[in-house]
Amino acid sequence: MKKILIFLGPPGAGKGTQSQLLQERNNYLQLSTGDLLREAVKEQTQLGLKAKSFMEQGKLVPDDLIIQLIDQKIQEIPDKNLILDGFPRTISQAEALDKLLENQNLKIDAVILFDIDQEEVVKRLSGRRVCQKCGAVYHIVYNPPREDGICDKCGGKLIQREDDKEEVIRKRLEVYNSQTIPLVEYYQDILIKIDATLDKEEVYKKIISVV
Ligand code: ADP
Ligand code: AMP
Repeated sequence: MKKILIFLGPPGAGKGTQSQLLQERNNYLQLSTGDLLREAVKEQTQLGLKAKSFMEQGKLVPDDLIIQLIDQKIQEIPDKNLILDGFPRTISQAEALDKLLENQNLKIDAVILFDIDQEEVVKRLSGRRVCQKCGAVYHIVYNPPREDGICDKCGGKLIQREDDKEEVIRKRLEVYNSQTIPLVEYYQDILIKIDATLDKEEVYKKIISVV
């Protein structure tokens, strides 16, 4: 593995969008715990069955399940730069990650903090649509597909995530503020803050210029 980056920021800040750009244009691989969990729920695996109700309520899935998932995935990563998108989300996940990387003689190169206020995030999340087939991310106003409801990349159907409904969005932001914000201090020595309110190409340029 080459570089390891962590994308930190509230839901809706654009972490997935930027991970997908880096994956398409540069030699990065996105590892999104949210995507892995949604896949597990869809496939009704053991993990999926356990995670489902937490996700529907906008709560975090218990740390032990997430750490187990990452432990297994990180061993399968090819020789690429890695983006951890949506992980870690708690101090104990961060501590577990440190141990896991230490055992493999790896280290985190940078933590990119997506700086954006919560009102903007609510607008982004409520207009977000994702491709049911390939997971590409759109927004009905900020990043619309060429054809309404259809993925530009694979022709799949665009849907709204269950947890992108108003009440769940509020809960997810509350959870971010209480459980994930402490990571800003935890990673203060390797933290790079970027302005996530900019247009997606501008955000991309900023990330490329710092990594
Ligand atoms: P996260 O992975 O952090 O939850 P996403 O990448 O899914 O966030 O983005 C949330 C929503 O905001 C999506 O609908 C996406 O199309 C839109 N979006 C992402 N980046 C930007 C941007 N720079 N400007 C405007 N909208 C954006
Ligand atoms: P995301 O796609 O990153 O917005 O994550 C969607 C949901 O998956 C979250 O609201 C959590 O329920 C769950 N989830 C994703 N990543 C984690 C994580 N690192 N720790 C705990 N729960 C997670």
